[in-house]
Amino acid sequence: MKAPMKAIVVGGGIMGLATAWALAREGCRVELFEQDSLPNALGSSFDEHRLIRHPYGEHSGYARMIDDAFAAWDLMWEELGARFYAPTGTLALSGNGARWAEQSARSLAAIGRPMKELAVSDLPSRFPLLKTGGVEHAFWIETGGVLFAQDIVSALAQRLNVKPGVVLHTGTTVRTVDLDRARIVTEAGTEHDADVVIVAAGAWVVRLLPGLTQRLVPSRQVVAYFDLPAEQRVAWSKGPMIIEQTGDVGLYLVPPVQGRGLKIGDHAFSRAGDPAAERTASEAELQPLIARCRSLLLGFEHWRVERLKVCFYTVTADERFIVEKLGAAGWVMSPCSGHGFKFGALMGLELARTIVSERDPALHTSWAAGLEGDT
Ligand SMILES: Cc1cc2nc3c(=O)[nH]c(=O)nc-3n(C[C@H](O)[C@H](O)[C@H](O)COP(=O)(O)OP(=O)(O)OC[C@H]3O[C@@H](n4cnc5c(N)ncnc54)[C@H](O)[C@@H]3O)c2cc1C
Repeated sequence: MKAPMKAIVVGGGIMGLATAWALAREGCRVELFEQDSLPNALGSSFDEHRLIRHPYGEHSGYARMIDDAFAAWDLMWEELGARFYAPTGTLALSGNGARWAEQSARSLAAIGRPMKELAVSDLPSRFPLLKTGGVEHAFWIETGGVLFAQDIVSALAQRLNVKPGVVLHTGTTVRTVDLDRARIVTEAGTEHDADVVIVAAGAWVVRLLPGLTQRLVPSRQVVAYFDLPAEQRVAWSKGPMIIEQTGDVGLYLVPPVQGRGLKIGDHAFSRAGDPAAERTASEAELQPLIARCRSLLLGFEHWRVERLKVCFYTVTADERFIVEKLGAAGWVMSPCSGHGFKFGALMGLELARTIVSERDPALHTSWAAGLEGDT
């Protein structure tokens, strides 16, 4: 009888963990190597929440993948015995020359996904927590919500730790990867071999694969958690999630669902910084974002920054994911540009299927780049 395929996964963020999970489901033996603990609090995947939503600007290929992403999460909830998700619906806003909401509405119409266009004059009655300064286009879609990211990676790591056929190596930095032989060498000099190696090293990826330096740029991002008056917190805990782009500053707001924090971040990539450097941030860095909050959120003058969080991810020039076969037996898996988490379970399941059933790697790369059915 043929021995089951053996895979090495480098990196224990959502991408590495989900791929290990999916490969084990396909009957593979898996060894995963994580330089820190599992989960790693400095990884992109570690934060209270990450958003999942259908509106995707002009990237309709990714909008089309959202239903599959939800189905993949459902499979994972079954395995984990818990659902780490709260639906909120999605409010999309744009104005001042930015056309993100219009583009999203067009893509959603093209893929037959219903949403409701809203007159700006109706916004205050429908969403009394908002001001309408700078907003020219708005729509609402019932789908979308909050994935409890750090709870997901924690639960998945715990589950994999006891899953037959899976070995998790924590505190083990991989120093080199041989993508032809599926061999890695750790910092301690230990060699490990497999049939396939998947590098899912997040913002650290170019240290292992310097050939990707021009394509995958680490980007330091700062987000703010806010403390707000109790009655406002109660109101905001019912949502919605907001994705807005009005002029230079665009923000996303994650409502404080199920006792989590209220978080706001912007869409601007810093394209700078080193994920291994010390992580500090100041409110001064967020002045444009704070100014936009002031003009968009009613009662914002009573909000206080509770804490700032510095996070890193990799960015590509066109914001599409890079999942590519490299060498005879290697894959790089970098679904990011700040929007990868929602696809974590799906990316893992599909990569495992491609590897095990020897599907065409080029087709997989194109699918992961959101190019299938892009209009
Ligand atoms: C502020 C912010 C907001 C975001 N918002 C959203 C959102 O709303 N919706 C969404 O879908 N996505 C969002 N994202 C993006 C999403 O979080 C990332 O795309 C996703 O978490 C990337 O997962 P990953 O597994 O590739 O990387 P990571 O989680 O960073 O995991 C990589 C792991 O590899 C390990 N590693 C690296 N090098 C080595 C090595 N040599 N040896 C061993 N281990 C190694 C690292 O320690 C790390 O744990 C956001 C990201 C940030 C930072």
